[in-house]
Amino acid sequence: MSQIVKMQGMNKYFGKLHVLKDINLTVETGEVVVIIGASGSGKSTLIRCVNGLEGFESGKLEVDGHPLEPSRSNQKSLNEIRKEVGMVFQQFNLFPHLTVKKNIMLAPMKVKNESQVVANGTAERLLQRVGIADQANKYPSHLSGGQQQRVAIARALAMEPRLMLFDEPTSALDPEMIGEVLDVMRELAKEGMTMMVVTHEMGFAREVADRVIYIHEGQIVEEGKPEDVFDNPQNERTQSFLSRVL
Ligand code: ADP
Ligand code: MG
Repeated sequence: MSQIVKMQGMNKYFGKLHVLKDINLTVETGEVVVIIGASGSGKSTLIRCVNGLEGFESGKLEVDGHPLEPSRSNQKSLNEIRKEVGMVFQQFNLFPHLTVKKNIMLAPMKVKNESQVVANGTAERLLQRVGIADQANKYPSHLSGGQQQRVAIARALAMEPRLMLFDEPTSALDPEMIGEVLDVMRELAKEGMTMMVVTHEMGFAREVADRVIYIHEGQIVEEGKPEDVFDNPQNERTQSFLSRVL
């Protein structure tokens, strides 16, 4: 097995605020890691570091063999990592002036120099896969939140990522649309995609995660198999968090 994400002794500050404290975390290829924790605990910051959206102050980070320096100065690694790592945000962040299909075609054509014909074929296949082939020529604002989020996932997949990051992908959705997005993520996991997922969907975490990580005030205080973390949490902070959300 190979380790696609390696974080060692990572520290991150926003000004004086110490947001990530001595984070040690490795993710194996093919693994699904779910990150849970209270609002403000540093979950978003942690996964944003993985694709270089945030820098960090000390420690080591390597993503698929590309080292990122604390200063974030390694532009070559950053470029490689951004090609290999897909990200899906809470707010879908689709380009409003592009159709659904064009949203998906853009990065492969611009970044990977794919031809229009190839990118079009990929987009159609991916839209089929996330169950919205019939929405291809609409603009994002004409889609439901659940459909928009599925487009966002398809758009990320179009780059053939080696790792997918999800930051609360269902938190902005109406309850009836959460399932359709989780279904797509569940399928991806089944197909062997390596995933880091921040979510409050504990049912999903229990079912899909290989490993659950609980983060409290910027520290990993507990990690393990979902059944261990959920049914038998060792740390009292985890117990208290879970008693509030389960
Ligand atoms: P979570 O995703 O777990 O809710 P975040 O990673 O978003 O937590 O935030 C962790 C802490 O860092 C919070 O206290 C938050 O207010 C702070 N923070 C996040 N982003 C910034 C930023 N860009 N500038 C300053 N503080 C930030
Ligand atoms: Mg967050």
